[in-house]
Amino acid sequence: MVFTLAIVGRPNVGKSTLFNRLVGKKLALVDDTPGVTRDRRGGEGRIADLEFLLIDTAGLEEGDVGSLSERMKAQTAQALKEADIALMLYDARAGVTPMDEHFAAWLRRTETPVILAANKCEGKIASVGFYEAYALGLGEPVALSAEHGDGLADLYQVLVETLKEIGIDPYEGENDDSSKDNQKNLDTGPVEGDMDYEFIDPDAKEAQIRPLRLAIVGRPNAGKSTLINQLIGEDRMITGPEAGLTRDSISVDWEWDGLPVKLFDTAGMRKRARVSEKLEKLSVADALRAIQFAEVVVLLLDAELGIERQDLKIAEHVVSEGRALIIALNKWDIVENRLDVSRALKDVLTRSLPQLKGVKFLHFSALTGKGLQNLMPMVAEANELWNARISTSVFNRWLADAMEKHPAPSVSGKRIKIRYGAQIKTRPPTFALFCNRPEGLPDSYIRYLENELRRDFDLPGVPIRILMKKGQ
Ligand code: GDP
Ligand code: GDP
Repeated sequence: MVFTLAIVGRPNVGKSTLFNRLVGKKLALVDDTPGVTRDRRGGEGRIADLEFLLIDTAGLEEGDVGSLSERMKAQTAQALKEADIALMLYDARAGVTPMDEHFAAWLRRTETPVILAANKCEGKIASVGFYEAYALGLGEPVALSAEHGDGLADLYQVLVETLKEIGIDPYEGENDDSSKDNQKNLDTGPVEGDMDYEFIDPDAKEAQIRPLRLAIVGRPNAGKSTLINQLIGEDRMITGPEAGLTRDSISVDWEWDGLPVKLFDTAGMRKRARVSEKLEKLSVADALRAIQFAEVVVLLLDAELGIERQDLKIAEHVVSEGRALIIALNKWDIVENRLDVSRALKDVLTRSLPQLKGVKFLHFSALTGKGLQNLMPMVAEANELWNARISTSVFNRWLADAMEKHPAPSVSGKRIKIRYGAQIKTRPPTFALFCNRPEGLPDSYIRYLENELRRDFDLPGVPIRILMKKGQ
């Protein structure tokens, strides 16, 4: 147990219910009446193998509407002082209230990292209240139901990520003797059935050991089969149709340097399909299907033929679907005018679609294997970059700097102010910015922010999306 988590939020959002669920004992009195008096409690909580000290701040009455009572503030402040991470709950059924806004505004100013959770999300996750929460400026909320035990797998993931960000290893000392006792507790511990169930949920398991989903696409004869054979060689294991893909698709489970990879083999798809359709047309359809299931797509080109309209169409589709793209020039062994070929590709990429600017490309020979060692590191890196998550506090510090360096323009004499922002999505990284007059902000300013973000957070070739929202 190496970290402390404080559950904070206004009364009646479900803090005690969550506390009970995580601690696993029916300790607290849960009542519908806001502010039923309870003591501030601490307990040993856990989610699956993650153990922590939990502080509950329930038991306070709401102060004057729209403000926090002094007692609540003092108690929360004390809890935050003791905690490594704060978990702010709000009631997704009730939506965001002025009290929640005050809480969030206050939490945004503290040093403690905050995870926002939308409680009472059982059944329907996408309630209006869930999306309203972006306006709190604390990032994407985790959808929970404290009462039903839903969403704990997501909370687990976000906790692990946040711990990593603040440099805490939650499994520290796992191999020493004292943790053997913990292990015993893990097996016989006070965890209720529901929660166990949550963690045998296949999604949760999958999320932790999920392979990177990679597709190799390209025109017929670009060298896809050759490449896959060269990459996987004798280890090849055909796993048959992936649920949801067509019967003819093939995926290969493979491991590269310890990283599990699920590879979609569109060449295999084509070879299995009936040959009545024209091959060209078929290969585009294959590519589109594979892209849907992939996170990273390698678009393979025959270097002697260069990039053609059909390839660009696929490239554009990959990026607009939010997948990471790598362009590979194959058959480099037989290319004579290598410099010209590289230049031509770069040229096309800069001149065509703005979103293809900066897309990584490489060249190799799938046949001889020369240069191929660069491919998988690039794939792994692209995957990481597209999954980049910038914490809300870091992002807002960055935003303040960027706006100071280059303030947003005034429109009809009025200053446009971006109050705060947060990353709301990964793949590709997507940010919401809350602004007093979003309609007045010129595109050039948004592009400025995009470029700064890309440079400051080292995200070359990653399309960054910025959504402007109205907010005070
Ligand atoms: P606290 O004041 O923040 O500690 O809130 P409580 O834990 O006392 O919960 C307030 C009310 O919300 C109680 O009636 C709970 O039963 C209810 N509640 C808590 N979690 C959930 C949930 O996930 N779904 C629903 N529908 N109700 C919940
Ligand atoms: P696919 O249709 O995309 O699966 O392409 P194949 O892997 O079947 O390759 C088509 C042809 O290109 C075959 O004759 C391969 O031997 C050849 N080929 C593939 N990669 C290379 C390469 O790197 N260099 C050369 N010279 N030929 C290659």
